[in-house]
Amino acid sequence: MKQTLYKDFSFDSAHRLPHVPAGHKCGNLHGHTFGVRVEVTGEVDPYTGWVMDFADMKAVVKPLIDQLDHCYLNDIAGLENPTSEVLAKWIWDQLAPKLPLLSAVWVRETCTSGCLYQGD
Ligand SMILES: [Zn+2]
Repeated sequence: MKQTLYKDFSFDSAHRLPHVPAGHKCGNLHGHTFGVRVEVTGEVDPYTGWVMDFADMKAVVKPLIDQLDHCYLNDIAGLENPTSEVLAKWIWDQLAPKLPLLSAVWVRETCTSGCLYQGD
């Protein structure tokens, strides 16, 4: 039986989008409380009854979130154009080697706008 677990994180950071048309408000320096949801999918262990320990997920993801918190995202290598799409893939690329069951990364910029990346 396969199931998907998720854990939510958030961080506060500033960014600007350098490739938007002149006059677009996202070209101005501004900030968000970004939401990040990390999903892992795998077989439920018949003895433990879980796919993996949430604490083990947190141990992998939290240091990365801390790295993004209270930063100017554009200064981070690979995030020179920090759209939700670019950020979701960047987070995926950082986590995938340490989280083999990783199946999705969500990045939410506002309550109503976000991005889902599931690899490739
Ligand atoms: Zn923004």
